[in-house]
Amino acid sequence: MSAHQSPIIRRKSKQIMVGNVPVGGDAPITVQTMTNTKTTDVAATVEQIQRIERVGADLVRVSVPTMEAAEAFKLIKQQTNIPIIADIHFDYRIALKVAEYGADCLRINPGNIGSEERVRAVVACARDLNIPIRIGVNGGSLERDIQEKYGEPTAEALLESAMRHVDYLDRLNFDNFKVSVKASDVFLAVGAYRLLAKQIDQPLHLGITEAGGFRAGAVKSAIGLGMLLADGIGDTLRISLAADPVEEVKVGFDILKSLRIRSRGINFIACPSCSRQEFDVISTVNALEERLEDIITPMDVSIIGCVVNGPGEALVSDLGLAGAANKSAFYEGGLRVDRLDNKDLIPVLERRIRARAAMLDPANQIRIDKA
Ligand code: SF4
Repeated sequence: MSAHQSPIIRRKSKQIMVGNVPVGGDAPITVQTMTNTKTTDVAATVEQIQRIERVGADLVRVSVPTMEAAEAFKLIKQQTNIPIIADIHFDYRIALKVAEYGADCLRINPGNIGSEERVRAVVACARDLNIPIRIGVNGGSLERDIQEKYGEPTAEALLESAMRHVDYLDRLNFDNFKVSVKASDVFLAVGAYRLLAKQIDQPLHLGITEAGGFRAGAVKSAIGLGMLLADGIGDTLRISLAADPVEEVKVGFDILKSLRIRSRGINFIACPSCSRQEFDVISTVNALEERLEDIITPMDVSIIGCVVNGPGEALVSDLGLAGAANKSAFYEGGLRVDRLDNKDLIPVLERRIRARAAMLDPANQIRIDKA
């Protein structure tokens, strides 16, 4: 196995289709997010979905709390390309309406819909239109009797809640669904997903819910999802941050990239703050990250401030810079090919990286690394 391959062996799950995107089985682990505009504001929601799509999201979820929002959903579907998951709580009529309007997945918990007849109606509609359902259990909103039984949210409580919804679908012979058991506590969520992974074959949607603000939430999500993904658990994921949904997508890809599960865009290898740096590594890397956001070709680029680690990192990177006084050594494919003036690094590096990306992958396509 090369250093670039992930050693992770994925749990075998059933594959479902969310629109034209496969989830589960041997499909790439998909990254999704959720819009935070008012769904009834069609223009703002469409604009946000387009931004989300541009940073590579595979799927997007849109909340549909009312019939008015369902009408807006119809217009949003007509103006966007990415598969949309309609997020519905309780009202089965909204589920039927958005299914008619082209929803690619329904996020609705069968146990919350009400009568058996209503559950049957939603499942029959999903079956007829070949739309999957996502069961979404959340540690903050467990059923009252489960809360009373366990006293507090536990992994077993989340599992019991999920299996209750799964049983509804099993009884109706419907297996076109995926499941999430989210919690804001890392150990709780991880414990619940590990239990669930042993119980069902369905694809699992991962998430640490309400993870927090951008920095802390990204760290918490990386730890929780990292534990699960390293176990081979997870078929799609959403990072829940109190931040722009675009950031959620970027963090999701960064997590997959860190585990070499799915590479997208540039993986920068860069020095931490250090007094030996011959040029300002931090501002250089920050500027390059911003300027090169549109590159989706997977590449390793090392930006290292001195010769202690610079040549070594450059050897195993697509492109590398090893800091030296006045002019730093520039490497391509592990070979030193040039010396770049430290005063003018950012635009020169941007040009070089773009040229290398075009050479590696003229179509600028995403690469899926499989274990
Ligand atoms: S490679 Fe050089 S500049 Fe970078 S952290 Fe190490 S000693 Fe500091």
